[in-house]
Amino acid sequence: MRTVKSFAAKHADQPLGPFQLERRTTGPNDVEIEILYCGVCHSDIHTARNEWGGTIFPVVPGHEIVGKVISVGSEVKNHKVGDTVGVGCMVDSCGKCGSCDEDLEQFCEKGMSGTYSSYLQDKKTITYGGYSTHIVVTEKFVLSVSDKLPVEGVAPLLCAGITTYSPLRHWNVKKGDKVAVVGLGGLGHMAVKLAAAMGAEVTMLSRSPEKAKDADSLGAHHFELTIDPENMKRLKGTYNLILDTVSASHDYSAYLNLLKTDGVMVLLGVPPTPEQIHATSLIFGRKSLAGSLIGGIKETQEMLDFCAEHNIVSDVEVIAMDEINEAYERTIAGDVRYRFVIDMASLKK
Ligand code: NAP
Ligand code: ZN
Ligand code: ZN
Repeated sequence: MRTVKSFAAKHADQPLGPFQLERRTTGPNDVEIEILYCGVCHSDIHTARNEWGGTIFPVVPGHEIVGKVISVGSEVKNHKVGDTVGVGCMVDSCGKCGSCDEDLEQFCEKGMSGTYSSYLQDKKTITYGGYSTHIVVTEKFVLSVSDKLPVEGVAPLLCAGITTYSPLRHWNVKKGDKVAVVGLGGLGHMAVKLAAAMGAEVTMLSRSPEKAKDADSLGAHHFELTIDPENMKRLKGTYNLILDTVSASHDYSAYLNLLKTDGVMVLLGVPPTPEQIHATSLIFGRKSLAGSLIGGIKETQEMLDFCAEHNIVSDVEVIAMDEINEAYERTIAGDVRYRFVIDMASLKK
């Protein structure tokens, strides 16, 4: 057992602060990781503030983890001391059900173990995330990270990267497809980079005019302001696929209207409150409204390898651990270009 430093929210309406926790002794199949960087996902904020309900307090958020292996169990085959590795949103699953067999551990029929505010497969041991100096994870859920890319930029790939890569692959995005991304934040900026790398013609749909220049440098071919009703009228029937990454309540029908016949809009953002849509938004044009949750472990490794090959990392602003509460406020205000990443050396001091 190792006592480690972390940052936790003890209650939904309290800021995060220092917290000590115990990491288990490295078992035969475990990898012990010293965390170098951890990204700040909007899901961390929803969870720390209990906006979806069900948060297990105290919660140590963080599921965009990159670090160095410092010890491995006797049975571990794929990782060794000194390797650079990543851990995303899951730390285990049953490994036996139909979903696990299909490399879709995120849909494990027994319930996957989330990296924080969740339970290990014993359904008793609470999990604590990456806003901490070390973590111990079973080998299968530890990803290999190429040393070619800057690690702080790799960290957000473990959630924002895979969450946007997976639907682009599932809906078979190919050269020339018209893909729109709604919301230019952590997920949105990765969606633009990945869709462009897959050859799509990418449009950024944003409410923030000041982000237009950034969308262009991220690889978007077009930028459209969604707060202008004339734009929304003109763009009717334009896209094959829309990835919606918006974290707050908004009108889905307004975006469904922008799909071509047989187009698909995929919900990735998880606003705290439900939305209503009318059947007519879907039946005219045989449109589909779908959702997608992160991605399986095999696909996450594939995404990391794709990013290494195409030189893709997240655009990050590195912060110290004690700047986390301010970073949450700035993320909510849309004031981040485009992911905060915590330098864990700041927690060790
Ligand atoms: P983020 O960095 O805060 O980005 C969200 C973006 O949504 C903002 O940059 C903004 O873009 C837009 N937005 C925010 N509030 C809005 C509002 N009131 N109206 C319209 N647009 C608004 O968040 P993130 O980390 O990318 O996460 C986005 C969402 O995805 C969160 O709900 C998160 O929990 C969820 N998520 C889901 C999965 C999954 O597996 N499905 C995985 C990770 C995260 P503009 O300024 O460009 O409009
Ligand atoms: Zn996330
Ligand atoms: Zn399973």
